[in-house]
Amino acid sequence: MIRFSLICEREHEFEAWFRSGDDFETQKKRGFVDCPTCGSSKVQKALMAPAVSTGRKREKIALAMGEAQKQAMAQLKALSQKMRENADYVGDKFAEEARKIHFGETDARGIYGEATPEEAKGLIEDGVEFMPIPVFPEDSN
Ligand SMILES: [Zn+2]
Repeated sequence: MIRFSLICEREHEFEAWFRSGDDFETQKKRGFVDCPTCGSSKVQKALMAPAVSTGRKREKIALAMGEAQKQAMAQLKALSQKMRENADYVGDKFAEEARKIHFGETDARGIYGEATPEEAKGLIEDGVEFMPIPVFPEDSN
């Protein structure tokens, strides 16, 4: 038996058990899978979206389901790793450090860390170039 997280067209999330992934597809095609809240049979597998804490900011993360998504995920992971490889981790001092580097008050170098939405907004206003990097559940930072 496999448990699937499902979501209906009205975005009610619920869980249901199936013998297999094929069993789910078959039952769904026959209209046997319906939402316990509104009875709609227009349901699909929900993307798992656990809230993962990255410092003070909380991000949503999608679990890759299809092959194309898995490939995109692998590429994102590789990119995310590459961006951090030669960069200093500065934790929640990111905004402070980025600003110092931008204004030439400290050595120019790659850094990464966490910033609150307010800090990120402030950096944009100061003309500091930065970008969010994807964070994965297995990342310890
Ligand atoms: Zn529903």
